[in-house]
Amino acid sequence: MPVIKTNVLTPLNENKFMFLRNVFITIRNKRISSVETSTAIHSFRDWTHLLCLPGFIDTHVHLSQYYIRGRNGNDLLKWLQENVFVEEARSRDQDYARKLSHLFFDALLQAGTTTSVIYTAPQSTACEIAFETARELGVRAMIGKTMMDTNSPADLLENSDQSFQESVALFQRWHQKTDLLEYIFSPRFAPVCTPKLMQRIADFTRANNAFIQTHLAENTDEISLVKSLFPDVGSYTEVYHKSGLLGPRTILGHAIHLSEKEIALLAETESKIAHCPDSNFFLKSGSFSLASIKKAGIDFALATDVGAGTTLSMLEMMKLCNYRQSDYRVKPAEAFYYATLAGARILGKELEIGSVTAGKFADLIFLDLNPDNFANGEDLLSHIIYLNREIKVKSVMIAGSTVFSA
Ligand SMILES: [Zn+2]
Repeated sequence: MPVIKTNVLTPLNENKFMFLRNVFITIRNKRISSVETSTAIHSFRDWTHLLCLPGFIDTHVHLSQYYIRGRNGNDLLKWLQENVFVEEARSRDQDYARKLSHLFFDALLQAGTTTSVIYTAPQSTACEIAFETARELGVRAMIGKTMMDTNSPADLLENSDQSFQESVALFQRWHQKTDLLEYIFSPRFAPVCTPKLMQRIADFTRANNAFIQTHLAENTDEISLVKSLFPDVGSYTEVYHKSGLLGPRTILGHAIHLSEKEIALLAETESKIAHCPDSNFFLKSGSFSLASIKKAGIDFALATDVGAGTTLSMLEMMKLCNYRQSDYRVKPAEAFYYATLAGARILGKELEIGSVTAGKFADLIFLDLNPDNFANGEDLLSHIIYLNREIKVKSVMIAGSTVFSA
């Protein structure tokens, strides 16, 4: 029963967090059994020079695009053609996919991310390799193979039946087969998916309580393309709604350019959003309407969207979340929530992960930062967010097992 004496910074809700100095975290059966100011146990790890946070939750990231981060940006559709599709085709080579998978997960852990929601390239083998690597490294993740059965380059275009059946096979092989791994159905976005494929995904996921992820309204040219491909449907959001894809287990990446009607539809269907400020900035896609989405009561959380995002650092996402809003000041407590507990919430796991709370899984990270020099938690949290490049992650634990140490 490991006991760690350390300092804790943890979110409570979107407006509040808690800072505790010199407390004892006891871990039992993969979970935090207590966080207390004293302990009867004499043998404990003294990590009072470090700061413990809940592991970060990245709600939208493309494993197979890790190598193309920072490639000279163009707008979304050109970026996909010139960089993404070319790179994802390379994952057909299984040695390449394996090497990439290891690099990606190592970097993810180094960044302090303990839970991630991942798209792999469309090849089934690339997704299989990602699951194998995640299992080997002890990572908590939801992983899905990207699906695209129309309007796609020949080397990525899938036969519709095959795309669906391969996804179902991966779901059956991996979904909840370990404590840490789940499958997520991942149609890339409406322009490259037929209505038939989207409907089959919707039917299957509803019958099996499975999650879906896709992209929505990231860029204005993309929206025009969707309008031309689905001329009879009122909006991009309605294309997904009509196919049955919206719902409480659906995570929509970006959701930047939405009408009031579309926002209302997302709220009504309890769909979730992954907000990717770095990627939106990089591709000049636009600015997420954080205040309107919040006002509508739609749950959203932060994400890196690597490779259009340039880094796996969720600390950096917290900073950019505020920087990208011109009329709304995202407070440190709020940004912290979006990088942790809000992610847990949109995955339906808020009772399991997302904060340093007794009863939850011990998904913990330890920053190389001695809080002695900080007068209070507010200064400390603000420092972590805005000076994040000066801070190193020293140790990462998932379900009580150490998976990374520097
Ligand atoms: Zn994406």
